[in-house]
Amino acid sequence: MRKRDLVSIADLTDREIEEIFQLADAMVDLNPIASHAKSCAGKIMATLFYEPSTRTRLSFESAMQRLGGSAISCPDMRSSSAAKGESIADTARVVSSYADVLVIRHYWDGAVQAMAEFADVPVVNAGDGSHEHPTQTLCDLYTLKKEKGNLKGLTVVICGDLKHGRTVHSLVYALARFGVHVVTLAANGMELPEYVIEKLQNEHHYSPLPLVSRDLQAVVEQPDAIYLTPNRPHQLALFTRVDEELQDDLSKMAPGLKFDAFYVTRKQKERLREPVAEGEASYPRIGDRFLKEKRFKDAVVMHPLPRVDELSPAVDKDRRGIYFKQAAYGVPVRMALLSFLMNDSASSHPAKKYLTVYRGPEGAISACANANCVTRTEPTSTDLRFEVLPPGSSETLNLRCFYCDHRFKVQLVGHVRSKRYCPYDRGLKEIVDGWLREGDLIVFDTIKQAEELGYEPYRTGPQRNLMDEAELRAAVKRISESIGRETEDRDSLVIVGIRTKGAFLARRIARELEKQWQRRFETREIEMYGSGGQPEMVLPEDPKLPAPDLHDREVILVDDVIHTGRTVRAALSLIFQSARPRSVRLAVLIDRGLRELPVKPDYVGKHIPSADRERVRVKLREVEQNERDKVVVYSIINADDSNQRSALSSNSEADS
Ligand code: ASP
Repeated sequence: MRKRDLVSIADLTDREIEEIFQLADAMVDLNPIASHAKSCAGKIMATLFYEPSTRTRLSFESAMQRLGGSAISCPDMRSSSAAKGESIADTARVVSSYADVLVIRHYWDGAVQAMAEFADVPVVNAGDGSHEHPTQTLCDLYTLKKEKGNLKGLTVVICGDLKHGRTVHSLVYALARFGVHVVTLAANGMELPEYVIEKLQNEHHYSPLPLVSRDLQAVVEQPDAIYLTPNRPHQLALFTRVDEELQDDLSKMAPGLKFDAFYVTRKQKERLREPVAEGEASYPRIGDRFLKEKRFKDAVVMHPLPRVDELSPAVDKDRRGIYFKQAAYGVPVRMALLSFLMNDSASSHPAKKYLTVYRGPEGAISACANANCVTRTEPTSTDLRFEVLPPGSSETLNLRCFYCDHRFKVQLVGHVRSKRYCPYDRGLKEIVDGWLREGDLIVFDTIKQAEELGYEPYRTGPQRNLMDEAELRAAVKRISESIGRETEDRDSLVIVGIRTKGAFLARRIARELEKQWQRRFETREIEMYGSGGQPEMVLPEDPKLPAPDLHDREVILVDDVIHTGRTVRAALSLIFQSARPRSVRLAVLIDRGLRELPVKPDYVGKHIPSADRERVRVKLREVEQNERDKVVVYSIINADDSNQRSALSSNSEADS
């Protein structure tokens, strides 16, 4: 019989979650003479905790004993053989011969997945780094369902450290699956990670809408960003400008919503790599003001605990504070889960989580972009495995780490047998899929890495010039003039470029406007491949200059080429995470006219309808030394023959 692990909440189908809740209903009174009280007789559960725990470990141990089984425990794995340097793979192998089920908590994202692969018995994730905490989610959903009767249609506000809180990550996926509206109220700099938002969008068709709500501000101090996920998907993608209509829509939506629960979380101090910019005061807290607010009279308050100071003891005495009940349900819910996992019916596996898997070949050194991923620290217990996601923006191959779920983008792909590499382009999708199927794909972070492994660049097809230096200069001038004409308030203008080339174009536009108006303009930059593969706002190069605040500003977003529209969507979403600009207008040098999302640029240098397999490249002298400004189009494979071999042999200019 195939063993069944619970590493992610995605390992359980909705039906199985319901089934576990039914079992929990039968166990909730903890009756010692009920039939289930002997259902795990003779079974041993081992709890392996590499991080502190009160509730999770003790409620699991209590649950096992109430099912007639017993528990062996290592509450501080740092004092185990791990301290002598034992790999997590060896620990998992060994302990699985002592017990029938392992419950593991670890500080690395993905560590429990790695251990599950080496254990012969079911493994349960009791929290892995910032990644997931699926059994907490079972308790949370069970509590919410018990309180509210039904999950579908509820609105839950998730507050606090949404970036590092693993309970939040498992919970939002589950809430999405059960049709709950999620409003997120993050502390500044602690918004949901981009990989979680992407997963919500791609797998659960949830589309976050950034919203600053004055209404909630009345009860929770200084919220930075609120997302609403109404049943209208992909709304953000429809707007490149925050127009009146959207503003109206949002403000109507917020007061109309009935909030059913607030899920409060503590700041995960132990996971902060660098100090967060914002002071303590901006952390969302629930206290007296919340209790007095009429709109929240039916909103229950939940917390995975432990709390620090984000949840006032005043809520303890109020009927809406249900967090101790939530902790108490930990026992029946974990009893139900254990009997489910150790029962035959659990052997039918739910849908596969990962579809097209890429394994880095021997010698490939490209690692997961998440610094806390288990693959970074335990190469002997893991291998480089990624799911290849459908192509998003035009020039990157999107991968998802098999262990920690982080998504990241690579720009260079190679063919193992022929030892050639080239920049990825969505036009190459079919070819790269073929390489993947045949085990010939390799990905690189840098050209240096490819060349050190003995790879040489592919030859590309002939290039056509689409714009020369003078045309490019004229286009930038034209765009700047139109921006100038349409700017209502010069003081509020700020020009934001998407790195690399969009940022240089943004500076050129700013210079043109400065010439026109004889004054300085602020610019900012967005890095799409920031730390952990996430888009981020870059601080000004000159540390003496303050970063422009985008709130209530007229923003011009600049990129070199618009293709699918996804990059622009991601940049917009980043802007709205931190501010509510008065308007955002989009300027691009080239519009390729092959949009996947309905994003329409306001200023276009040139429309160049081009085929998907073609690469349009803007060359700017700031980036390409010794070259003049120009725009070229070329095909990386021979246009007449999509066979990859002809790509190998076509023979003009090398792409770098
Ligand atoms: N107990 C939960 C966890 O282990 C929540 C927390 O620690 O804040 O993730």
